[in-house]
Amino acid sequence: MDHPILLQTETHLDLAAYRARGGYDALAMVVREWSPAQVIEEIKRSGLRGRGGAGFSAGKKWEMAAAKKGPVKYLCCNAAEGEPGTEKDRLLIRTNPHQLIEGAAIAAHAVGAAKIYIFLKARFVDEFHALTQAVADAKAAGLIGQQPGALFPIDVEPFRGSDAYIAGEETAMIESIEGRPPRPRQKPPFYPIQHGLFGKPTLVNNTETLCNVPMIISKGAQWYQRRGTAASPGTMLFTLSGDVVRPGVYELELGTPLRTLVYEQGGGIRNGRGLKAIFPGGPSHALVTESALDVPLDFDSLRAIGSSLGTAGVMVYNDQACMVAAALRFAAFYADGSCGQCPPCQMGTANIRDLLRQVEEGRGTGKEVARIKQICNLIRGRGYCDLINSAVRSVESILQHFQPEFEEHVRRQQCPFATVPRAPVAAPAPSDARRN
Ligand code: SF4
Repeated sequence: MDHPILLQTETHLDLAAYRARGGYDALAMVVREWSPAQVIEEIKRSGLRGRGGAGFSAGKKWEMAAAKKGPVKYLCCNAAEGEPGTEKDRLLIRTNPHQLIEGAAIAAHAVGAAKIYIFLKARFVDEFHALTQAVADAKAAGLIGQQPGALFPIDVEPFRGSDAYIAGEETAMIESIEGRPPRPRQKPPFYPIQHGLFGKPTLVNNTETLCNVPMIISKGAQWYQRRGTAASPGTMLFTLSGDVVRPGVYELELGTPLRTLVYEQGGGIRNGRGLKAIFPGGPSHALVTESALDVPLDFDSLRAIGSSLGTAGVMVYNDQACMVAAALRFAAFYADGSCGQCPPCQMGTANIRDLLRQVEEGRGTGKEVARIKQICNLIRGRGYCDLINSAVRSVESILQHFQPEFEEHVRRQQCPFATVPRAPVAAPAPSDARRN
């Protein structure tokens, strides 16, 4: 890659270092010379798609937010990264907080937002301090803030909310900022863009999405489009974890084959083992096997094979990994993460976890798999948010490929991989960032 867009540094960039690289020039240009409509048009032309999971056009989302009338609108940056195996937003914030602040300020200018909130989990202490210092420095330098003479008069508030996984859901995040427990709101009618923070229209963007913006404005939509594919331009941060030689966060052009990430960047499977499975978009999306190694990592190619890019938390399992244990681990995660307000989610995710535990612990009767499939069919789509569907997709996809492993656990009344030391699926070290 001739110029990274996101991982511009491996150490922390303070304001002076960021400005020395042209930081805040894009904000100055749009504030002084561009109308909000021009900014939105440039982001639309770039083809930037949201990096929070859905892959929706960022420019179209901004256009919808800009069209909302009313004296007050908000911009919320979702920095509550919590999907297992994903570490990239936190890395971006720790190393280059000004890139996020500048991108958010440009978005606020485009949609007419009165204030920016950057929502972090309570435990993201280092990220909170990095952002708080960066906001103070940008304000002292007259770049943002309500003081006379500021380049762009807006307040930016880093906000430490709930640590719950579900707080990363956009309406739960809004509830948390408003001081309530993070419970997703029913959509419709509570789409943030219509009825968001404090009842006002609210644009919610992911951290990585906003970090793309300064470079798109500085270098132009055409420059950006030369990276990635026609339908998925740009680069993306892939958090590679699990049984690979070199786990880490890698910036790659969208459309790069999965094989390149796992074998060239990640060094292949640890200890010379074979490959069993990969979750290319984290456990909330369907896994793939060796036959998908040449699939390009972009939004549409993965969707075409029944999976998804998600937040690009790529989790790799070797040929001796126990997929019943993996299914149990994810089921327990979703059951613990359920906020409990939708009975099918609260009961269904707990039941799936308990049935999987029975099989994994060698207490299976042979009826568990059928019961799990039945529960999945009963609860799918019956919650206010996508957690319930994530739980279903995770276990269904493992069963689709590895049901015989479940049957073998029941037959032997123990794990067939019990003699093989199990490597935990570790998230990469936070500082382990790599560029292509
Ligand atoms: Fe809460 Fe689950 Fe309902 Fe989502 S689906 S709102 S996590 S109970």
